[in-house]
Amino acid sequence: MRLNTNESPFPPPEGWVEALVEELHGIEFHRYPDRAAWGLRKALADLHGVVPEAVFCANGSNEVLQTLCLAYGGAGRVALTFEPTYALHSHIAHLTGTAVVEEQRRDDFTLDPAVVAAALARNQPAITFLFSPNNPTGRADDRSLVEQVLAEAPGVVVVDEAYGQFADWSAIDLVSDDRGLVVTRTYSKTWAMAAVRLGYLIGPPGVVEVLERVALPYHLDAVKQAAGRLAVRFTDEMERRVAIIVAERGRLLDGLQRLGMTTWPSQANFVLWRPSEKPAAVVWRGLLDHSVLVRDCSSWPRLDGCLRVTVGTPSENDRFLLALAQVVA
Ligand code: PMP
Repeated sequence: MRLNTNESPFPPPEGWVEALVEELHGIEFHRYPDRAAWGLRKALADLHGVVPEAVFCANGSNEVLQTLCLAYGGAGRVALTFEPTYALHSHIAHLTGTAVVEEQRRDDFTLDPAVVAAALARNQPAITFLFSPNNPTGRADDRSLVEQVLAEAPGVVVVDEAYGQFADWSAIDLVSDDRGLVVTRTYSKTWAMAAVRLGYLIGPPGVVEVLERVALPYHLDAVKQAAGRLAVRFTDEMERRVAIIVAERGRLLDGLQRLGMTTWPSQANFVLWRPSEKPAAVVWRGLLDHSVLVRDCSSWPRLDGCLRVTVGTPSENDRFLLALAQVVA
């Protein structure tokens, strides 16, 4: 049972698979796909109440982040992150020759406004990365904090909302033509389409235009474009899955606390926790012996002794809690 990579535990709706198969018959496979991915961008624009020119799509939100770093980072420029956080942002920034400055979150993984203000003033970042909710901590940054960063950051501000639909607020309504804010989203989690590799951002059309210039021609194939466009028709079903996962997250947190684990509040589809009696590596191995795979974060900076579990289906979560009770007994 894989509860280690924050995928959706549910497959996408059957109706979506049928619609995609039907759509395949109409694809002109001997032609290049729509270079601007207009149908897909239009569907996402309607979903979010923005214009299609405000939507940029790529092969997973990782490629969205890479395109941002290629366009706005590079030699002599700084990308700012607040640790602990998703390691790939620093990695991608490094790959594009962007210097990375890692500032620190508080011990409870929230951001200190004074630390944020000093970091922005000192580093003058070309790109500032925020996460709402953050991976692997699960915490979402406050809206006031994002507004502070928007007011003080000299460059582009990226709010990574890979887990945005599980949270109680989104920065998408803060996007406007006169601010350098972009919000990234993915089809890999809530849309149950990790295998498709599709992500996007909502941002000012001026920024999207720059990103389009950096992306390789025809980087989004025709099947992927259709898959993403059709998925949006099943928004109600996606939201039902999100509601189940949010309810299950509460049950997982209760179960972990009842077993004496230290937990942090989560607004994502995973929970970070720290076993108290036994070392994390022993608990991780014990769970694996029960065929339950979670993520061992204990060697990551600032995450001593921590493990992360993805919220599964109700029966997977029962099996996880049962296995954990036996491992820590
Ligand atoms: N951002 C965060 C915070 C993530 O946790 C992940 C995936 N684990 C991604 C982006 C990348 O997602 P995608 O599958 O869209 O590339």
